[in-house]
Amino acid sequence: MIEHDVVIVGGGLAGSRAAVEIARMNPLLKVAVVAKTHPIRSHSVAAQGGMAATLKNVDSEDSWEAHAFDTVKGSDYLADQDAVEILTREAPDVVIDLEHMGVLFSRLPDGRIAQRAFGGHAYRRTCYAADKTGHAILHELVNNLRRYGVTIYDEWYVMRLILEDGQAKGIVMYHIRDGRIEVVRAKAVMFATGGYGRVYNTTSNDYASTGDGLAMTAAVGLPLEDMEFVQFHPTGLYPVGVLISEAVRGEGAYLINSEGERFMQRYAPSRMELAPRDITSRAIVQEIRAGRGIHPDGRAGGPLVHLDVRHLGREKIMSRIPFCWEEAHRLAGIDAVHQPIPVRPTVHYSMGGIPTNTDGQVRSSPEGLVEGFFAAGETACVSVHGANRLGSNSLLECVVYGRRVGAAIARYVENRKLPDVDEQRYRREAEERIQSLLDQAGPYRIAQIRQAYQDCMTEHCGVFRSERVMQEGLEKLRTIRQQAQQIFLDDKGKLWNSELTEALELQSLLIVGEMILYSALSRKESRGAHSREDYPDRDDVNFLKHTLAYYSPAGIELRDMPVTITQFQPQERKY
Ligand SMILES: Cc1cc2nc3c(=O)[nH]c(=O)nc-3n(C[C@H](O)[C@H](O)[C@H](O)COP(=O)(O)OP(=O)(O)OC[C@H]3O[C@@H](n4cnc5c(N)ncnc54)[C@H](O)[C@@H]3O)c2cc1C
Repeated sequence: MIEHDVVIVGGGLAGSRAAVEIARMNPLLKVAVVAKTHPIRSHSVAAQGGMAATLKNVDSEDSWEAHAFDTVKGSDYLADQDAVEILTREAPDVVIDLEHMGVLFSRLPDGRIAQRAFGGHAYRRTCYAADKTGHAILHELVNNLRRYGVTIYDEWYVMRLILEDGQAKGIVMYHIRDGRIEVVRAKAVMFATGGYGRVYNTTSNDYASTGDGLAMTAAVGLPLEDMEFVQFHPTGLYPVGVLISEAVRGEGAYLINSEGERFMQRYAPSRMELAPRDITSRAIVQEIRAGRGIHPDGRAGGPLVHLDVRHLGREKIMSRIPFCWEEAHRLAGIDAVHQPIPVRPTVHYSMGGIPTNTDGQVRSSPEGLVEGFFAAGETACVSVHGANRLGSNSLLECVVYGRRVGAAIARYVENRKLPDVDEQRYRREAEERIQSLLDQAGPYRIAQIRQAYQDCMTEHCGVFRSERVMQEGLEKLRTIRQQAQQIFLDDKGKLWNSELTEALELQSLLIVGEMILYSALSRKESRGAHSREDYPDRDDVNFLKHTLAYYSPAGIELRDMPVTITQFQPQERKY
């Protein structure tokens, strides 16, 4: 059996930052990072626009309190304000620390770190490396993993969390390269497994964002928090859905409908294109529904709107947002210097996730904590984003809470012994699970079921929701779940069996989607990204609370958890 003091699942910003912190605090600890991709191919590498922190390099009147207020208002007052305070207070320090590690941020003419505007932020506070910020940060963090001697298991698929008697004891992992199964025991397990964009058919997320960490947590009977809050980013490139960063609007781009109008003036007159994402995505969908969308050939009444940067001029486009220009050119044949970019909302981010306290320790209930189990980053819900995340607050969350949770883990494992784990049992059960997937016989292929499932989630739990549409979605999901047990795999081998990995990922997607639908049905109000046509108003009397959803194959149970409110009392949310 493999043994480590700490095993971290996920090599993105959150997992890597935590590993670096543990190694810094106690170089004697044996720390491992496991990832189903290479760590540098984690979705964090694709982050473009930047990371918020009140360095005050551009707007000197900015403050952490202003950043906290914007975050809480953006969250539609569902964020836990103690967690937001930590996020915004520690932000400047983590940015400087990253810089000292070697991250090359873009600069002002006087040499200080540059900062740009972002949706929902009242000041220019987003630090960036052109429009390749995630790339710049993740590469340095992974370099540092090597420097600190962290063991990296890349292309290992983690398929189970070992949880016994309320204590996490390790994981079971499967080597994608040769089919080997290993049981790992550890004094602490951390999940930093990222988001679940692949639950939907149009997403900015990578292929690996299948919510495995969420599904493994739910499968052992632990709750998931606020799963109804799915972020749609307003500007996915039409039709593929890849992201055109909010930095493009931060630099001054316009959103235009078929009448040539900057329609955001009707939805958020004071912030226009820089309103928060939930409001902007709804505005685009409403324009399209009202017949003011645009067809790919330019006619009115189509499924997209235009993102126009032509007035910025070639020089600004090529220096500040070169990657977005290149994406539009490569994937849609658009030269954004001369043509508007066709966009529509795309699934982008998971506000909900594995509930944790502000040290990243996972909650078993509103009152209880799980021994030895920690989470951070997009897979966790601490909750700093509440019902709607502001752009450039997620990279920040990964780094602030990655560091903080790493420190908490280093303290936690001190003077603890490795737990006892029945290696043979866990190995046998994993082998049986894989064999039963290989033995499965039936008429369906993975791609077919996955497509039907993603279409179902997109149609029945999208930007706008209602009881009837979601109930129909749940019915369809039941059928799809049965069909998923009649999939056959062509590849029965052990070497690079990507079909098998996809079959395991499909099982994760199915659990996560059901949790989203159930939680969304139970929240009979509109708040942040959760917009119900049958309950169009926010209802603080009945729903100013977090949802905890407990999964079992027989059904999902829901509980509530209070929201922590410290500085900012809920107000009407207008921009
Ligand atoms: C295109 C795009 C642009 C973005 N731009 C910004 C931005 O400018 N600013 C901002 O703040 N946020 C941005 N975001 C959001 C932000 O990038 C993510 O929320 C954040 O990077 C998530 O980091 P993470 O460490 O939690 O997870 P990820 O970076 O997604 O990493 C997840 C890790 O878990 C591993 N993993 C998952 N499942 C398993 C398994 N079963 N077994 C083993 N390993 C597993 C993966 O291999 C990977 O290493 C953007 C997101 C996207 C998609």
